[in-house]
Amino acid sequence: MSKTVELRGVGVGSHGLVGNVWLLAMAGSPLEPKRATRELAEETEALTTSIATTVSGLRGDAAGNDSVSSDIMEALLVLVEDSELLELARPSLEQGWDGATALQNALDEFSAMMGEDEEFQSRVSDLMAIGREIGSVHRGEKRALDLPSDGQWILVARDLTPLETSKFGPSVVGVITEHGGPTSHTAIICRARNLPAVVGCHGALTLRHGSSVLLDPAGDRVVPGGSLELQTQSIMLAPLSDAPLITVRANIGSAEEGRDAAQTVAQGVGLFRTEVLYLNASDAPSLAEQQALYREVFLAAPRGKIIVRTIDAGSDKPVPFLPVAREENPALGVRGFRMASKFPEFAESQLRAIAGAVAETGRDVGVMAPMVSTVEEVRHFASLCHQAGITQVGIMVETPAIISVLPDLHGLVSFLSIGTNDLSQYLFAADRLHPELSSFNSPWQPGLFREIKRIVDAGEILGVPVGVCGESGANPLVAIVLAGLGIHSVSAASSAVNDVASALQGVTKKTAQRCASAALSATSPEQAQSEVRAILEEL
Ligand code: PEP
Ligand code: MG
Repeated sequence: MSKTVELRGVGVGSHGLVGNVWLLAMAGSPLEPKRATRELAEETEALTTSIATTVSGLRGDAAGNDSVSSDIMEALLVLVEDSELLELARPSLEQGWDGATALQNALDEFSAMMGEDEEFQSRVSDLMAIGREIGSVHRGEKRALDLPSDGQWILVARDLTPLETSKFGPSVVGVITEHGGPTSHTAIICRARNLPAVVGCHGALTLRHGSSVLLDPAGDRVVPGGSLELQTQSIMLAPLSDAPLITVRANIGSAEEGRDAAQTVAQGVGLFRTEVLYLNASDAPSLAEQQALYREVFLAAPRGKIIVRTIDAGSDKPVPFLPVAREENPALGVRGFRMASKFPEFAESQLRAIAGAVAETGRDVGVMAPMVSTVEEVRHFASLCHQAGITQVGIMVETPAIISVLPDLHGLVSFLSIGTNDLSQYLFAADRLHPELSSFNSPWQPGLFREIKRIVDAGEILGVPVGVCGESGANPLVAIVLAGLGIHSVSAASSAVNDVASALQGVTKKTAQRCASAALSATSPEQAQSEVRAILEEL
């Protein structure tokens, strides 16, 4: 490959680095089938032990990670430990295959049972990676996962499973994946860990193991053989005032993340994702249990307003105690606030528990519903909130339909919060997790900015503040555009909060408005980004 050919993708983080490539491309190949050398009972027992030791090791590794990664890993480990998996492995064991082969066959069968569903399949490939790890342990072979243990490397892979991300040590200093978009699992985890990455990077697997590359997330690219001088300069804006132009809050999903957020300059919480607390819960928590958890989160959270989102279960975030039938299109299925009609008791208990935790802590709390698309739903949510004693009622704006009817929400809501992750996927009809559609979900899409402007205008008519809590707000330059469009607050993962706040301290309202008009009139995401950069570079 010529040194001058650069690979384009979606950057995560703002600092670039030069490093050597560690190619993880081969880690996905299945283990070779082998016959057992022990008796059936002994082999079965050995497999049970291999599963238990590997799971416990992985659980230990995951415990040292950020809570986003460890929650994802825990959901997978629970499946691997399930006795049904061993049952699926039994026929192969009885036919004389070794535990590693039997486990792999069981996982293949499990995958077939899951059908064609893309979302299930992405979980299955994560499970397969864990299966290979158990198989290698079982055979006493070198671990299937070939991650660097010393030196400093930029990891290159087709995509990364939670198993792989959970095992990153200090030797992994950057990440490049062929698949994944700006809101993919890999991007969210790299952002949470402050690891620069370029995801959805076409041609990543053509990079040679050991070769040097420039990882340039600010420029959304990887330059083989490139030097650090070539990196897209992060725009350093000198502070013009003590406070950012608009309020910057943190996005959290647990008390631990609340404590992390409290170490940043975040002025409160823009999105508390309550479902994160329950991704592995098989039984519905009682009202008292919920209240205790919310109380802990409220006490840990940074000073300022806290915006709690009621459970956003379903689709890519299944919650075991709120089951839905198998759906052809889960992102268009029973999810978000739609769950409140299916599970009214939980919806009611959650609102009462939040109200109880507000009373106990005295925090300033607004509560919003995810995924609403009609006035009736908003009316229903507002009435549930009022019955529970909640007065600050808001909604997430993440479906195109709700935008059109925003003027009809007068008196029903006291704030709006734009979920740009889902809003992008529904506006562009492009699955937010789809590996080949990441450019539709770019935060720089002019079509997205134009919809955000419509929402801001509607918020003005309603007389309510409008925030952005999707990943768009984690990009400092996009945050400036959002401020220029008239957005009142943005929120982002704790690792991005300080960068976003300092960018917003370095611009006047007038500059932000210039950036917004450039972004609004652009005809491509690339043009929007380069015109905004040009305005800020000349400051
Ligand atoms: C969003 O959709 O932008 C959002 C913040 O919600 P989530 O990513 O949790 O779906
Ligand atoms: Mg959403």
